[in-house]
Amino acid sequence: MQQKTLLLLICRHRVSTSQIIGEKIYERKQAQPTSQPASAAGASRLTFGLLFDIDGVLVRGRMPIPAATKAFEKLVDSQGQFVVPVVFVTNAGNCLRQTKADQLSHILGVPITQDQVIMSHSPLRMFKKFHDKCVLVSGQGPVLEIAKNVGFKNVISIDMLRESYPLLDMVDHNRRPKLPVRFYNLPIRWETNLQLIVDVLLTNGNLGSSHQTQNTPQLHLLACNMDLMWMAEAHSPRFGHGTFLVCLENIYKKITGKDLKYEALMGKPSELTYHFAEYLIRSQAMQRQWELPVTSLYAIGDNLMTDIYGANLYNRYLEERVARKNPKAVAKMVSATGSTTAVPREEEIDSLWESELALPSATSCKSVLVCTGVYNPNAEVPSDANHCIKETVFHGHRDFIFDPGLVEPGHIVQDVAEAVDLIFEQEKFVPQ
Ligand SMILES: [Mg+2]
Repeated sequence: MQQKTLLLLICRHRVSTSQIIGEKIYERKQAQPTSQPASAAGASRLTFGLLFDIDGVLVRGRMPIPAATKAFEKLVDSQGQFVVPVVFVTNAGNCLRQTKADQLSHILGVPITQDQVIMSHSPLRMFKKFHDKCVLVSGQGPVLEIAKNVGFKNVISIDMLRESYPLLDMVDHNRRPKLPVRFYNLPIRWETNLQLIVDVLLTNGNLGSSHQTQNTPQLHLLACNMDLMWMAEAHSPRFGHGTFLVCLENIYKKITGKDLKYEALMGKPSELTYHFAEYLIRSQAMQRQWELPVTSLYAIGDNLMTDIYGANLYNRYLEERVARKNPKAVAKMVSATGSTTAVPREEEIDSLWESELALPSATSCKSVLVCTGVYNPNAEVPSDANHCIKETVFHGHRDFIFDPGLVEPGHIVQDVAEAVDLIFEQEKFVPQ
């Protein structure tokens, strides 16, 4: 392996998206590009766009949420075109954007293009400086195809690595090379990825050499999806990719005494994901030839720690930019995230992103919480919730500091249909 290896973690442990709607994939009609002007009179004077979470907002388990169909009837005109810019922001990551767009089209009954979908790995396409590097990809689903789709040219999987270095993967007896027997009592599945990623980190990508725990510069690490838990069919939450990261961080720390550092963390609530969403919304408005820039974003979700935290974090960044009136000013998200790597400096954005991405037109991102998913309005939080959450149940990533203000939703509504009604009312928009 080359010296300049990049470790890339793509979401694991999400239910297969094809499982949600069975094998039946919506047959897309020749979806008109979103460049068609909205049919509603005066729509070109609108200045807002919508970000929808998927699980718990539009679908629950395998079933569409009825309010979603109702909401989307209001969001498309008689030709099936969206009347305002709409994107779907999910932390799922085990399929291509096109696959997710096809599934959403089927669920919602309206044509949705891949340019409207942001998955946990989507922001990787902006890290162009790594696209020519040798990249190790860890995750489930078609990870090599996903990595190539976002721009990486030289990718290898954990399986490819394991086959090249069979002696490194020893925990699972069934996959162990025939050697003198040793007994282990460790869980299988994750150990291969954890072992080989730690090997790559501690050998600086030279797997033929032994571990160097001192003075080894850490390889670049990009992680997609920080969800500690997620809801499946079981009564209680299941391990998410965030749990895998907790394992990796702690193993690395235990062995080296150093903190594992990320080049970037993406997926909600990371700002990078919202930057990317803002860019897609802005692109849709430009394609529609809207006269005014999109200044207001509304993010609709069911999870306080991802959807609401993320929207509010991005809102802080936008407000700070507006307050400073200085396009080169960097929003000091470090104070909120506790990490210098969570947000690229603005001058870095200029070099990393397509130029359109450098400067958001949005000046606010309002959070709207729905009660059809993980948020339970009947579960009262204790009076000392701030202390309690911070000390005991903050499930956010190590590099994100808990701030009670960031989990305070702008609005709470019953479902996504109510959310759309509320937003239309706030924007004084009456669909034709
Ligand atoms: Mg959700």
